[in-house]
Amino acid sequence: VHSNYVVRADDVQADTGKADPIYTGKVTSSKLLVRSGPASSYDKVGSFSRGDTVKVYEETNGSWVLVKYKGEWAYTHSGYLEEAGMSGKTIVIDPGHGDHDPGAQANGLVEKTINLQVGLRVEKLLKDAGVNVVMTRRNDTFVTLSGRVSIAERANADSFVSIHANAASPAAEGAETFYNSNYQARESRKLAAAIQNRLVKDTGMKYRRVADERFYVIRNTTMPSTLIELGFLTNRGDANRMRQSGYYDKAARAVYNGIKDYYSE
Ligand code: ZN
Repeated sequence: VHSNYVVRADDVQADTGKADPIYTGKVTSSKLLVRSGPASSYDKVGSFSRGDTVKVYEETNGSWVLVKYKGEWAYTHSGYLEEAGMSGKTIVIDPGHGDHDPGAQANGLVEKTINLQVGLRVEKLLKDAGVNVVMTRRNDTFVTLSGRVSIAERANADSFVSIHANAASPAAEGAETFYNSNYQARESRKLAAAIQNRLVKDTGMKYRRVADERFYVIRNTTMPSTLIELGFLTNRGDANRMRQSGYYDKAARAVYNGIKDYYSE
């Protein structure tokens, strides 16, 4: 029959937004052929290159997977696709301050406690997603800045996320997220931007900025790294948000989602 008058049932679903990719793969061979059907006997319709990300919509029997190629359904061999995403990665979570160093204190809030409570919840969410999480502290102890960097370097981490909360004049408000261009500038900025977007969306904080700053822990870690400021303890609105029950969970979910967004790009 003439293909112009036949639509795949899957197409109809995809066009109505019902068919979601089951995973995103990264191409591991220099040239990965794309074919019109799920076997090497089908016509070649093109190819992907190493490092391309490919959304996989369906696994067939055998190793062929349904993908979109130039807007059309096509098939490729899954043997040269590795699942993108954060599962299997090593991520360092660094709750700022601790013990005799409380960090910022205002409106009845203490930064070191917020950092730790949010950090522990991020750890749980990441572990559940298959991430190897390394914490720089898991209780109210003091770790030096260089000690924090050493933990990340020794773990050969894929990324480093430092959690803080801010203090300034009462008018300053919102979330801000920093990166440093000393190492991995591009990736660090992407990681920072992904988390910042989620902090704004998921915790209701105002978007303040994503900026290049020379904080010790992000300047000296060699992997993509970011330092987030959840909000201002010194601002009444931000402090009220942070005092609400469920805030730790909400903030942790935001940080987790940001990291996840970064790794699914
Ligand atoms: Zn701090």
